[in-house]
Parts: sequence; structure tokens; C-alpha cells
Amino acid sequence: MVAINQNYLKLPGSYLFSEIARRVAAFSEANPEKNLIRLGIGDVTRPLPAAVTAAMHKAVDEMASMEGFHGYGPEQGYEFLRSAISQNDYQARGVNIQPDEIFVSDGAKSDCGNIGDIFGLDNIVAVCDPVYTVYVDTNAMAGRAGDYDAESGRWSKLVYMPCVQENGFTPAIPKEKVDIIYLCFPNNPTGAVATKAQLKAWVDYANAQDAVILYDSAYEAFITGPEIPHSIFEIAGARTCAIEFRSFSKTAGFTGTRCAYTVVPKQLSRGGTSLNSLWNRRQTTKFNGVPYVVQRGAEAVYTPEGKRQVRENVAYYLNNAKVIRDGLQAAGLNVSGGTDSPYVWARTPDGMPSWDFFDRLLNQVQVVTTPGAGFGPSGEGYIRFTAFGDAAATKEAVERVKSIL
Ligand code: PLP
Repeated sequence: MVAINQNYLKLPGSYLFSEIARRVAAFSEANPEKNLIRLGIGDVTRPLPAAVTAAMHKAVDEMASMEGFHGYGPEQGYEFLRSAISQNDYQARGVNIQPDEIFVSDGAKSDCGNIGDIFGLDNIVAVCDPVYTVYVDTNAMAGRAGDYDAESGRWSKLVYMPCVQENGFTPAIPKEKVDIIYLCFPNNPTGAVATKAQLKAWVDYANAQDAVILYDSAYEAFITGPEIPHSIFEIAGARTCAIEFRSFSKTAGFTGTRCAYTVVPKQLSRGGTSLNSLWNRRQTTKFNGVPYVVQRGAEAVYTPEGKRQVRENVAYYLNNAKVIRDGLQAAGLNVSGGTDSPYVWARTPDGMPSWDFFDRLLNQVQVVTTPGAGFGPSGEGYIRFTAFGDAAATKEAVERVKSIL
């Protein structure tokens, strides 16, 4: 009989968003007349920028001609997109990242999950708590996380770095030696950002320990503070210890279109092996590239109109974030995030368990949120609101929440 990957059997039952969907569906079935406002899942709602759709229309037309047809493209992405990324996202900010250090992909989720392929199973992995659960679950699937303890909500071999109000949602460097460190700023779910000094401490640690930082900056477009770094590669020394994940999903509305990229510097090697070469080997074997039409759309994000339209969309969402933040604060909740991030992270009133507060908001005022406990044990006692909704609905949701606090 075939043997399955036993690690999958250790994963806790239900993925967070399936459980939310189940509770929302049950409520809607019992109360079909009630109007729900969803500030839960982190999907965007604004359409693609016009510059992007125009470029995609043009590319579709090219595909219909003998001369313009494109079959399999380079697994790493087309040169035109890798160059646009290198110039606009890095060189323009004084960061030297070359096109051949950039690997275009169909999503930061896939890349964050797949990157584990190039690392051994005996590495010690550190994650923030609360955390984007993909980092945890993919390490568990690979067998790097040990066993799951339902009571504590922790995996036996992972090192958890609590990020709570008391430490400003900033992970502290672990006392034990770790090899792989996942960092995400602006953070999902807490909305926290990291300063240059904080990231420098991580870079120095990783270089000293021969560890590798996996840096997820999927939300960098939401950074407003001029001093806040957008990339780990703005930090001296990061080229020898970090891999960065970026995505067009939240920046430019590509959640359903799918385009992202991962940066693996040429200088990054461990045990005498270049990680850029390893990732290239992994991608060329297991991945056949992002569609030409989609890459042309992503390229248009960097045109002057594309940049302006992206800025407008981001500003729209950040304004929602401000409405949520101000409203919840006025209602007496303790809130953070939402200034350089589309996520507002609030403490539940009177230390109420986060699933109870989720249920209360759903049942009493029909506002869907995400309970902090779903992101890890240290998320208990918090709730996440997302700013990706419609502006009027967001205002209405905040008024509803205020009415019961
Ligand atoms: N990284 C973080 C922290 C996210 O929150 C998300 C999506 O919610 C992703 C990555 C996934 O991005 P993509 O749509 O590019 O797969």
C-alpha cells in the first residue's frame, strides 16, 4: 500500500478561514435577511488599475498573432518584468538587486511555502506569534515542525517569537540558536512595521549564526513612514543572509490574477552552495512560469499611470484603515496597525477570547472579522479588521461595532 506523508495528518483540523466561512454560512442560513459586512479575509475589492488591464488586453491581442504568440516563457520570469522590478522596487530606492536575483512567480503564498524545498529538514525554524499561518503549516507538512499540541496551539520543534502589545509587536531574537527566521513587515496580522535598527539586529544575528531570514514584504506598498524600510535589502549585510518575498496581490489588486516575486541574492550561500542557484534549480524543475499576459500586466504597474493608479488604490484602503482605527479607538478598544498596513489589530474588550468576540460581532452586528487566536497562541485576546472593503461599508461596519461597545 502506498505510504502517505504522515506530516499532513498532524495538521490541526480546520484552516482558519474555512472555520470563519463555516460560522458565517451557518449564521446567514439562519438569518437570511441580515446584511453582513466582511472585514475578515484579506482579499482586495478594488478592480485592477486601468494601466494593468490595458497592458493585458494588448498582450492578449499579441497572443492571437503568429509573431506575438508566446509559449512557455522563462521559468524565472521575462526579462522585461525582472528589469522593471529591479529598477523600480530596488535601484530607485538605492538598493542593488539585479534582474537575475529576481524570480517571478504566481504568488508569495506559493513561494513562502515552496522555499522550504531548498532547506534541510533538521533546521530550527523561528516564527512570529501571531503569524501568517502558511509559514507554520508548510514547515509542518515538510516535517520540520515536530508534533502539534492542541492545548497550547504550538508545534514542538518550532521556536515561537511572541509579538504582543507589551513588546510593541516586535519579535525578540530567540535565546536558542535558530537557522531559518520568518519575518513579515508590514505584519499580517498585527499591522506592525519594523525599523531599520530592528532589522539590522536580525541581519547581524543571521550573518553571525549562518542563519537565513525569509522576509515577507507582501504589504510594503502600504508603508507611509519615510524612515520605514520597504525591503530587507535596505539593511547593510542582508545580501548574505536574506531572501525576500513580494507580491502584486495587495499592491496592485492581483489576488485573482496571480503574480509575485522572490529575491535571492547572488551573494547568499550556505555550506558553500549558492541559494540563488538552488532556487533556480527548484523553479526550473517544478514551475513553468507566470503567463505572458499577466507579466505584461505586472510590468504596467511600473508605468507612470500604473504607479499613480496603484497609489490611489492603496490610499483608498489606508483611508479605510484610518476609519477603522479611529472608530475602534473612540469606542475604547486598544488598537494598533492600520497606519502602514491594511490591517488593524485590536485587543478584545475585557480580555474576551477572540472567537467569542468574533461570534459576538457576527451575531449582534453582522460584522465579519478574523479572531486573533487563528494566527497563533499569542493572537488570543486580539481581533483583526481588514481595510480592503468598500469605504461606505467599512464606515457602516465601524458604526455597528461602536454601537455594541
Ligand atoms: N504573505 C502574506 C503575509 C500574506 O498575508 C499573503 C496573503 O494574504 C501572502 C503572502 C500571499 O500573497 P499572494 O497573493 O502573492 O500569494
